[in-house]
Formats: sequence, C-alpha cells, structure tokens
Amino acid sequence: MVFANNVGKKYLLIFLMLLAAFLSGCATKLSGVITVPSAQIEQPLGSLENPVVDSDISLADALRKEAPPEFKKRQRLINVLYYSFDGKIHKGQLVIEERLVEDICEVFRVAFKYKFPFGSVIPISHDRFFKNGKWNEDDLSMMSNNSSAFNYRAVTGGTKLSRHAYGFAIDINPVQNPYIKGSIVLPPGAVYDTAKPGTLAYNSPVVRTFKRLGWAWGGDWKSLKDYQHFEKVLR
Ligand SMILES: [Zn+2]
Repeated sequence: MVFANNVGKKYLLIFLMLLAAFLSGCATKLSGVITVPSAQIEQPLGSLENPVVDSDISLADALRKEAPPEFKKRQRLINVLYYSFDGKIHKGQLVIEERLVEDICEVFRVAFKYKFPFGSVIPISHDRFFKNGKWNEDDLSMMSNNSSAFNYRAVTGGTKLSRHAYGFAIDINPVQNPYIKGSIVLPPGAVYDTAKPGTLAYNSPVVRTFKRLGWAWGGDWKSLKDYQHFEKVLR
C-alpha cells in the first residue's frame, strides 16, 4: 500500500504539474482574448471617451488678457463637450461669471442632446488668439467662428463696457450668427441663414433654453441684430 501510495502521489504530482501547465497556457490564451491591446481599447478621436481637445488651459491662463482684478475674480472656467461641424465630439472651455455657470452647463447639455454644432469653444486668452502682442487682435476669435463669453472689452462700435467684460454674455458661432447693424455685418461677409447647421433661430432649442433661464437674445433686438449674442445681467 505504501508503494501504491507513492506511485499514486507521483502520478498525482505529475497530473497537477500538467494541469498547472495546461491552466497557465489556457490563462495566457484567455488573457490574450480578454486583454485587448491598448491601441484597440482607445476610443476613436472625437468620441465621448476621447473628444477632440480644442482647449485645455488653466483658469490663470484663461484670464491672462488685461482686466481689473475685481472683474477677473468673479470668473470661472468651465469645461464643455459639444459636437463640432466635423460631426465629432470636442472638448472646449468657457469663462463665465460664477453665478451663470449652471445656466451655461444646462445650455450645453441641451445643445449636446440636439447635436447643435459649435465651431469651437475657446477662451479669448488662449494662445491661438494672441497676435502682435495683443489678445484677440483683429477679432481673431470671431473670425475663426469661435464661441466665447468673458472678454474685457467695450461694446461693438462704442466705448461703454460690454456685457462680456463682466462675464454676463456669450457669443455663439459668429459666422453663422453675425452682428448686423444697417450695412455693417460682423464678421464681414457672414450670411444669416437659419437653414444652416449652427445657426440660432427663435425656435432653436439653444435659444429657447437661454430664454427659459432668463437670458436675452440679440436676435430679438430691433435697432440691430446680434444673433450670436446672449446675455443675462446680474447685480
Ligand atoms: Zn456678444
């Protein structure tokens, strides 16, 4: 019986070794099936998991353009996701007065749901709008169809401070939604056509959402039209 036991133990040992070898090989195979190489795991550029990054700067960098400290201190930097005209999902940023953050998030939620496209959403103080030692020289942001909010500047065609200087206003897709006053069209050559994607009209979900939240739309103004512009003035 001792002999038989030893033989039994010997075969059991060999069996266990073979089983371990088999299982480890099997495990390797299994992991080969389950573990997809990282290149295949990565979602395509422009998806929700891997958006095209239009802007990814700090609040300090987003506030580099000159403005009085009391104006700057009320601004917040928010990250937004949106569809762009390429049909891909992009990640951008917006600087807005702290009390308007929730409103803007709600608007972007609605815009995303309806796949309303934004050219880009990048703060004015981003490197790409720096030229000749100035931020937004030659209206670089507007000319590139960028949407932005906080911008310490005067009103268009005036000396009074714009609502943008307080972070109380946002401009969306200037090329599709120009400023029109008499023969002045900004950006020059832009055509307002509500049939085109990215254009704001009175019945657009984006316009309706802004109004529901108490914002005024420049498309409703009588003396001039500023279709890109929304504002909510707070005290
Ligand atoms: Zn504006």
